[in-house]
Amino acid sequence: MPTLISDQRISRRGRATPELIFGDLWEFDPAPETADPRLQSRYDLFIDGKFVAPKTGRYFDSINPANEQKLAEIALAGDSDVAAAYRAAQRAFETTWGRMPGRERAKYLYRIARLLQDRAREFAVAETLDGGKPIKESRDFDVPMTAAHFFYHAGWADKLEYVAPGRRVAPLGLVGQVIPWNFPLLMLAWKVAPALAMGNCVVLKPAETTSITCLKFATILQDAGLPPGVVNFVTGAGETGAAVMAHPLAAKVAFTGSTEVGKAIMRSLAGTERKMTLELGGKAANIVFDDAPLDQAVEGIVNGIFFNQGHVCCAGSRLLVQESVADRVLAKLKRRIQVLRVGDPIDKNTDIGAINSRAQLRKIQQLVASGVKEGAELYQPSCSLPTKGFYFRPTLFSGVTMSHRIAREEIFGPVLSVLTFRTVDEAIERANNTAYGLSAGVWTDKGSRILKMSTALKAGVVWANTYNKFDPTSPFGGYKESGFGREGGRQGLLDYARLV
Ligand code: NAD
Repeated sequence: MPTLISDQRISRRGRATPELIFGDLWEFDPAPETADPRLQSRYDLFIDGKFVAPKTGRYFDSINPANEQKLAEIALAGDSDVAAAYRAAQRAFETTWGRMPGRERAKYLYRIARLLQDRAREFAVAETLDGGKPIKESRDFDVPMTAAHFFYHAGWADKLEYVAPGRRVAPLGLVGQVIPWNFPLLMLAWKVAPALAMGNCVVLKPAETTSITCLKFATILQDAGLPPGVVNFVTGAGETGAAVMAHPLAAKVAFTGSTEVGKAIMRSLAGTERKMTLELGGKAANIVFDDAPLDQAVEGIVNGIFFNQGHVCCAGSRLLVQESVADRVLAKLKRRIQVLRVGDPIDKNTDIGAINSRAQLRKIQQLVASGVKEGAELYQPSCSLPTKGFYFRPTLFSGVTMSHRIAREEIFGPVLSVLTFRTVDEAIERANNTAYGLSAGVWTDKGSRILKMSTALKAGVVWANTYNKFDPTSPFGGYKESGFGREGGRQGLLDYARLV
């Protein structure tokens, strides 16, 4: 049994409010999600509306990071497979999709969204098994948001004259897309839905550790009757991705992933006429002023960094807290972290699931070790971790300075670095003191301060008194080394259009 300690606290109005503090975490019975993910033992490439074996004849394993067991074999696409995918896309663009009126394209996008909703539980379980994220996130966020993006872009497909008022828009043609492993289905939707709404055809490569839901999604495209070749999925690692980006038939490439690979792609395509959007890394500041509703802020901070194990490009990985409330915020945070449940992602009670891969776990461990070595103060709850699989405790570092690696480098794990500030200007200066500029959060009672911060912070998204809120209507993208171009909203659609 957990130890329950009753604590009398004095509220702001001076009334005593009883509060229960949990010495240990309540043990719940296991509550695994039981929907059948309907996995195959082997997945081929999806080219020209059909599943085809790779010309390389090679396959690689996709494993469940929660227990290191093999889930399926995934085809490894080589250059000639990528070329076949582009040829199929070109045929589709010239014969069907590129000529189809927007109101007809819209029907396919609606159908795709509805079919995904019908199979939502199955996709949520598959996403969790393959990627390691808690089932409550794939069920309540990833899958519904993916459907929402297709619905939203279905709504645009017959209204494209309003995307750029006064101008006519036309599709670019063929688009090459490469996505990462942190939101496999959602990143697919961010890329595929606007491209199709605008009339483009697609060759997409998912990340090598999370290809399964992409290939399952291909069956939704088949069931929706999407003309063959409009969307093609090629699977593999970096070499396959490089082939997708470099193919001469691509009129545009869209990449989401690390800044390092984004820069390499940019270098390789320098001098070509190809349109490009890059959605890269981040090191967001979540800024808490002393007039903020602190309990609400603590929930936002926890959501901002521990959501999806911190595998979030816009994760609020640097907490900037005003000095006068720093001790209170830290104490509240430690208590909150103590009751986060780390464990089997398929369990409906789990808050923090598995790290996506052994390589990512090592990277997190190395950066955390550097934080300790450089003198920051580490706090981790005492929870036990499963013995098999890739797990990392939620971690909080206080006493961090901007010279520490953990304050500068993207960790992409459940690790929060806490820094303090005294004045508004100091908060702005510290928040912007990073190579990245994807997102930021501001917690304050003052509307005028929110407005000032939202213009002063060099970040594509600034959340105010909330964090990690997404909507298909809202464009998302970065400043500086977080990339360029936008996904979502009217601006995201424009990035898939030619103005004529
Ligand atoms: P990564 O750059 O290692 O890989 C991303 C994708 O690129 C994978 O599909 C990979 O196979 C492919 N790839 C690898 N080398 C390539 C090459 N030379 N050419 C073409 N493709 C190549 O990144 P990751 O570890 O999978 O993802 C984590 C990174 O993604 C983090 O930095 C995160 O911030 C970023 N991210 C950004 C956003 C955003 O919207 N800005 C969203 C999600 C993730």
